[in-house]
Amino acid sequence: AASPAPEAEAVPRTMPAFDYTPPRYSGPRAAEILAKRNEFLSPSFFHFYKKPVNIVEGKMQYLFDEDGRRYLDAFGGIATVNCGHCHPDVVSATIDQMNRIQHSTVLYLNHAIAGFAEALAKKMPGNLKVVFFTNSGTEANELALMIARLYTGCQDIISVRNAYHGNAAGTMGATAQYNWKFNVVQSGVHHALNPDSYRGVHGSDGEKYAKDVQDLIDFGTSGHVAGFISETIQGVGGIVEHAPGYLPAVYSSIKKAGGLCIADEVQAGFARTGSHFWAFEAHGIVPDIVTMAKGIGNGIPLGAVVTTPEIADVLTRRCYFNTFGGNPVCTAAGHAVLKVIEKEKLQENAHAVGSYLKERLLAIKDKYELVGDVRGRGLMLGVELVTDRRLKTPAKSEILRVMEQMKDIGVLIGKGGFHGNVLRITPPLCFTKEDADFFADAMEYSLSNM
Ligand code: PLP
Repeated sequence: AASPAPEAEAVPRTMPAFDYTPPRYSGPRAAEILAKRNEFLSPSFFHFYKKPVNIVEGKMQYLFDEDGRRYLDAFGGIATVNCGHCHPDVVSATIDQMNRIQHSTVLYLNHAIAGFAEALAKKMPGNLKVVFFTNSGTEANELALMIARLYTGCQDIISVRNAYHGNAAGTMGATAQYNWKFNVVQSGVHHALNPDSYRGVHGSDGEKYAKDVQDLIDFGTSGHVAGFISETIQGVGGIVEHAPGYLPAVYSSIKKAGGLCIADEVQAGFARTGSHFWAFEAHGIVPDIVTMAKGIGNGIPLGAVVTTPEIADVLTRRCYFNTFGGNPVCTAAGHAVLKVIEKEKLQENAHAVGSYLKERLLAIKDKYELVGDVRGRGLMLGVELVTDRRLKTPAKSEILRVMEQMKDIGVLIGKGGFHGNVLRITPPLCFTKEDADFFADAMEYSLSNM
């Protein structure tokens, strides 16, 4: 058990210096925008804060509100802006392409599209070299599921409970946490136990969870399956890493059942986890299909499915196309992203700063009972808040207070998890050690004020 919470000793240091002052903003203010949002935007739209912030600019790891106040963006858009907000190289590549041609996709030959496909293929292991572009992570996963079904001639897909794969018909079916919220048609999807070391029924025994997948194959299918889809680290589900040994064992079962293994790297890809460019690489596996979005275009709408020539061949002569997927403006942004990650050593930075921040968060966990678990890799970290460590009671209202206080100090952050009690830390990969200290201080201060 943690020692009793100390006095509010942890006054956060001031935000690291940053050499930029935004021009004065004279547009509509927060109250007016909120009123418009309530009237004209989907009611399912939600915000985490009592008083939502009107963000008018973003520069690298910082956001600016209508009064020019600076915030540390610890959510990184939604794990999208890996290079930093408005990174100059990404902005100029995009504007340059806008001035040349804004749309062409499959109709004509265009280097912005083919050149990026080649660069992306070079980042992939094995024979993963054929790229299909989409507009989003949802579309990428829909296509991956369809390819697996076409290739194998089977319908059965295995997905992991607590995963998030998107919000169209097929991907909603693969997203078990949606079942109670939407009237989802889940034809052909089997949901496996979540291999979650903190909350899962088998603790951190990856082989026991993998046995559950084998059982689903044996008892729920003909013995043949279309495939298995999984994030490597669950993002929306609350930064949950699969228990050790799980993925290699499951991949082997799926292959024996004739299925394809799909790695959803929408959130964890593009250097976010620090140790590797793709998160699945940490498990020594090579998927048959990899899906990606978010960080691929630094927030510009773009997604992709990458697979082998043999598997991709199932789409030959089926006239599969996507009007906007692979738009040259988006692929120009994507190409710039790859160059920036390499040039600025963002993967190495994610590893170094992420490891440092995780150490600090673990030290905070030792001091505050409210922190039940600290997990994740690189700059994809999660802090699960509980009101009772033994019962793991989700701290649903407390997390909102922590976030509110952090916002007041100048840190914006996301939350997730099935119970909505996990702080999700996925900042731009240019996050510095000073930012990490500021973040950890702000979190500690909020916890000490609960
Ligand atoms: N897959 C994962 C792992 C995600 O985190 C998300 C979105 O959060 C998606 C798929 C869906 O992507 P999009 O929102 O771009 O459709």
